[in-house]
Amino acid sequence: MAIFRKGQKAYSIFHIKCPRCHESDMFATSSMSFKAPFEMKERCDKCNEDFFPEPGYYYGAMFLSYIFTAWFSIGFVLFFHWLLKWSTAASFALLIGVLLVFFVYIFRVARAMYINIHVSYDPHAIEKAKNKGMTSTAASHYGK
Ligand SMILES: [Zn+2]
Repeated sequence: MAIFRKGQKAYSIFHIKCPRCHESDMFATSSMSFKAPFEMKERCDKCNEDFFPEPGYYYGAMFLSYIFTAWFSIGFVLFFHWLLKWSTAASFALLIGVLLVFFVYIFRVARAMYINIHVSYDPHAIEKAKNKGMTSTAASHYGK
């Protein structure tokens, strides 16, 4: 699908790639490896984008993940309970299982969504970072 192609925000969000260059992963480990699940890189390896523009930057991401998880949970339980006629307990048990498996991914996607609100894709981000010799920090922010 076109919206999941490189250059689209959805690509950066669901693949958890750097919002600026869409090349490097934002986290050091895979979402499904469950190793160091919350260890986010400080900067992009490829374009040097700062992933922590200010202290407490990802506070808002918590609300995003909360809202999406809540709506997903309601839909999930209603689907299994009403359409597939599962018992309430079984529907919730499956929901908890699914959320446990995707917990790390949801956490990461929420952060990727959040940083994508403020940072836009720049196809030349990597060249620009090379030209600057990877020394400048603030200049690459907010596309200026
Ligand atoms: Zn990057």
